[in-house]
Amino acid sequence: MSQTARSVQQVSRPRGRPTGAEFAFVEGPVPAPGPGTALVENQLLSVDPYMRENMDAAWELSAPLEGRSIGRVVASRAPGLTEGDLVFHRQGWRTHAVVRPEDVRVLPRTPGVPPEAYLGILGGTGLTAHVALSRIARLNPGETVHISAAAGGVGSAAGQLARLMGAGRVIGSAGSPEKVRFLTEELGFDAAFDYREGGLAEQLAKAAPEGIDVYVDNVGGEHLEAAIGAMREYGRIAWCGAIAQYDSAEPPPAPRNLFDLVEKSIRLEGFLVRNHRDAQDELERLLLPALAAGTVLDRHTVTEGFDRIVDAFLEMLAGGNTGKATVRVMGS
Ligand code: NAP
Repeated sequence: MSQTARSVQQVSRPRGRPTGAEFAFVEGPVPAPGPGTALVENQLLSVDPYMRENMDAAWELSAPLEGRSIGRVVASRAPGLTEGDLVFHRQGWRTHAVVRPEDVRVLPRTPGVPPEAYLGILGGTGLTAHVALSRIARLNPGETVHISAAAGGVGSAAGQLARLMGAGRVIGSAGSPEKVRFLTEELGFDAAFDYREGGLAEQLAKAAPEGIDVYVDNVGGEHLEAAIGAMREYGRIAWCGAIAQYDSAEPPPAPRNLFDLVEKSIRLEGFLVRNHRDAQDELERLLLPALAAGTVLDRHTVTEGFDRIVDAFLEMLAGGNTGKATVRVMGS
């Protein structure tokens, strides 16, 4: 085992898009677990859009950061945690963590389901998609669903879950022709378009000529405006995120058509996945058999090496990932 523990701290606040200069790598000795705790060597770390928001205020400067991670217990003085256990916990952005049993989940071993899935489709990412469709939008069989940032973690989970829940037509937007192909050829979307290649409203009208019933919004701004415009009467919008505006201090100019919500009796509802943890069992019941059978994909873009975690985060913000963006610690 390495004798040095490494971590990343935020050292300044960004103005607009972060450049990487806001972060610093810190080294120290590998911590020793005290009574009731265990030492975990992290293996896979999650980088997520909400972290960009946290950089503005929520994250303390020059202090340990949080983030979802999966690691292996390498020494334990805690009841219930055994050397070799693979655990999920929230002490990300570092190579080693000292954890208490109540802060971790020992990951189950399910044949055909890699543990990484617990940072992707079986983790908070998949849970967000599930809650958006089942609890917020209350998707009915046969309905047309549109998803923005559809080739990302939440988006690719949402498209596949919508299909499992009986959606009639599943469409999505993403930021490159490769991502569009991934959606239609690998994930089974009925139609997809590259939002960089033309008017959103026109492309949406072409992909869903009869309009949409449910919109899972990961982007906000003009994407939300176009979706409101394409909604059928009694449509529902599950507002997950607004990545188009996280870098900006100004309020977004769109949507300008909010009154359409009244005219078409549309319901728009925002939510935070952390208020819906109780849906986790339901998600696993739905997905574990499909993952094991290979009928649902948990695609990740894995950046190799802890050294590259800041790059991985910045690349994810710029659209470099397909599926869930993660970082493999080993190899750094
Ligand atoms: P992700 O989609 O895997 O990664 C972010 C993606 O956003 C990028 O790959 C990029 O894809 C797209 N993007 C970046 N800037 C954009 C822009 N200006 N316009 C359009 N697309 C842009 O990330 P994720 O973890 O799955 O999160 C997706 C959304 O869900 C985020 O808004 C996040 O904040 C939100 N979220 C909410 C909750 C909740 O509890 N409410 C929980 C998890 C995530 P392209 O190449 O397609 O541009």
